[in-house]
Amino acid sequence: MTPPRERRQPQRSCVGCRTVRAKRELIRVVRTPNGEIKLDTQTQKVPGRGAYLCPDPQCLTRAVRAKALERALKAPVPDEVLEELARQLTAQSAGPAETGSVRKSR
Ligand SMILES: [Zn+2]
Repeated sequence: MTPPRERRQPQRSCVGCRTVRAKRELIRVVRTPNGEIKLDTQTQKVPGRGAYLCPDPQCLTRAVRAKALERALKAPVPDEVLEELARQLTAQSAGPAETGSVRKSR
């Protein structure tokens, strides 16, 4: 059963697996009005266009493969941001992960 839309809790879908989750459970990647791409894991207040990911390295891998982040942000995502993301995700999930494999293939 799907509960009715909760207005108090904003929801977003992960760009990797498309699962809809509470926004606060997701990691936000933002493109600022300056065109800078960065993570917004702390405040959720960085202005700009956002893309959301589950705290799961697999979602990042999928998103990278499908270029979903780039499409959501309408901008190329620098490798260093992907690496930072990978670090965040592996730190959160605390599982074994192939951090080194998260790279843009271009
Ligand atoms: Zn996901």
